[in-house]
Amino acid sequence: MTRLLLIGPPGAGKGTQAERLALAFNVPAISTGDIFRYNVTNNTPLGLEVKSFMDAGAYVPDSLTNAIVADRLKEADAASGFLLDGYPRTTDQVAELDRLLVAEGTQLDVVVLITADTDEVVARLLKRAAEQGRADDTAEVIRHRLDVYAEQTAPLIDVYSTRGVVVTIDGLGAVEAVTDRILAALAERGLRASTTTL
Ligand code: AMP
Repeated sequence: MTRLLLIGPPGAGKGTQAERLALAFNVPAISTGDIFRYNVTNNTPLGLEVKSFMDAGAYVPDSLTNAIVADRLKEADAASGFLLDGYPRTTDQVAELDRLLVAEGTQLDVVVLITADTDEVVARLLKRAAEQGRADDTAEVIRHRLDVYAEQTAPLIDVYSTRGVVVTIDGLGAVEAVTDRILAALAERGLRASTTTL
């Protein structure tokens, strides 16, 4: 049973690391951003509802986001652990996740904070914009997403730090090196991956 959160500014490499860690720990990587993007691409009712928020680099309302996560965590594959990527992002979402976990009689093992300085994350996001053409990766929207992160999500680091569950990982460098750092920090906390050959 491994229950992890990944937190960090846009462009810190959360998505990439989430997929690698999910493989290593054999748990589903649950990314609210991916769920929303999937729905936007497929023009579902949810997609139509969230598109304008995403395009503007704003957060999707908590009520909608919380409902999506509550549903997703009820699925069978999340029963034996999960890795949440990009959720929670607001104090309201922390409260909802707490409620869901208490209801299940479980708790988070570790919150992995991936750090990267602003110049680096902006450079990475602009590169991703050129490669993937994400609607929210333009210079202006990137700036807004970073502001929203600083305002609404960075304060969550204190909330989880007070609980003693945060490990801070330098997100600079090669993807593999960052994964190794995370795996080492998790192992120190007694969380051993089922495989380290990624
Ligand atoms: P991401 O791929 O995690 O950077 O998320 C892309 C976009 O999806 C964000 O800029 C938000 O518009 C939306 N989003 C993803 N996760 C959340 C969340 N936990 N709360 C609110 N909005 C979210």
